Amino acid sequence: MVETQTAVVGAGIIGMATALELARTGRVVHVVERAPSPGAEASGAAAGMLAPQHEADGPSPFLELCLEARDLWLEVARDLLSTTGIDPGHHTDGLLHLALDASEWAALQRRSTWQSGVGLPVEELLPAEIRRRFPAVTQEIPGALFYHGDHYIHTTHSLEAYYAACRAADVHFIFGREVTALRTEPDSGAVRVAAVQTDGLEIAAETTLLAAGAWTGQITESIGYRLPVEPVRGQAVLTTMKDDPPEYILSCTDGYIVPREGGEIFIGATSERVGFDRSTTEEGVQSVWKAAQWILPSLKECRPSQSWAGLRPGSPDDLPIIGPAPGVRDLWLATGHYRNGLLLGPLTGLLLCRWMTTGEPGRDMTPFLPDRFVG
Ligand SMILES: Cc1cc2nc3c(=O)[nH]c(=O)nc-3n(C[C@H](O)[C@H](O)[C@H](O)COP(=O)(O)OP(=O)(O)OC[C@H]3O[C@@H](n4cnc5c(N)ncnc54)[C@H](O)[C@@H]3O)c2cc1C
Repeated sequence: MVETQTAVVGAGIIGMATALELARTGRVVHVVERAPSPGAEASGAAAGMLAPQHEADGPSPFLELCLEARDLWLEVARDLLSTTGIDPGHHTDGLLHLALDASEWAALQRRSTWQSGVGLPVEELLPAEIRRRFPAVTQEIPGALFYHGDHYIHTTHSLEAYYAACRAADVHFIFGREVTALRTEPDSGAVRVAAVQTDGLEIAAETTLLAAGAWTGQITESIGYRLPVEPVRGQAVLTTMKDDPPEYILSCTDGYIVPREGGEIFIGATSERVGFDRSTTEEGVQSVWKAAQWILPSLKECRPSQSWAGLRPGSPDDLPIIGPAPGVRDLWLATGHYRNGLLLGPLTGLLLCRWMTTGEPGRDMTPFLPDRFVG
């Protein structure tokens, strides 16, 4: 048996970001991960966009959270680089969002109006301006928005940096162990989670955090919690452009392109509710590849070098599920980050650490509490 102050289940971005913050306060933290290395599921599959403006249809508490997270990444990227020497590849070049047709352009213009109205940096571009500033993208469009504030990171480098920072902060990792159940015990008339159980090893903890992505609901079942987290498959493709790869994110309704380094570009992503099936399909890969070729016609000269799929942790209202588990002591939940887990990871980690150590998250988290589904 291992004894710890905090057991974190899952070494994705959410588990590692929270473990890092907790360890930096001096807590003893053990991360239990079934894969042999960190970032093995959704986090490692992600594009790396830190792009809340791109998908926001109106002001909301979720947008506020995402904007806070985007700002925090500027600091986090600097911190990870100076702590670990690994550059997370944070880029602030912006995102060009192309309208497919007139009705989409009208919708994007409405978005531009409200975003400008609340002070978000967004620019409306007409065809002549697009031709002048972005000659490589398709010119068969009525207009586009440029979100100056949307950023991206290099996913793999960021996860490597998080892992190295965790190690430097003395976070203990237990790889290759699948958590199969939680052990509870009575606690002054209530019930508390006392340990996480794996095949052959129990980790007894003062506090347990479940950050197991799309699988979090499977773990809570062992204590009778039905947490409605659903996997949403995203298929993606990697290719390399020798000449003039873009420096900013390019996007349309059917897909997007995120630059990496050395001409490598990430092309994503489908959004499919097909259960716990992480395989790629010819149809899925072709759909994102076709969208990317429409966005950037010179991609017709390239070939996909890799394709993969990841399972995003979705929730019924598409909002994250963060906070103490209602009705049982010493259990915390952090899942449901759906399409924005890389963006939100550092902020989720910071808020949870503050919450778990002081009893207060330091901002209003009501819309994201587990209580809306459990209790
Ligand atoms: C194709 C694609 C593109 C994406 N692009 C973006 C993007 O551009 N920007 C963005 O912000 N987000 C993006 N996302 C979403 C993002 O990847 C997720 O929201 C985020 O990674 C969720 O992180 P997580 O730590 O909760 O889950 P995960 O990364 O899935 O981590 C959960 C971990 O828990 C482990 N685990 C599960 N069950 C157990 C168990 N029983 N015992 C032990 N370990 C267990 C898993 O092995 C896994 O390592 C994308 C996702 C996909 C698939």
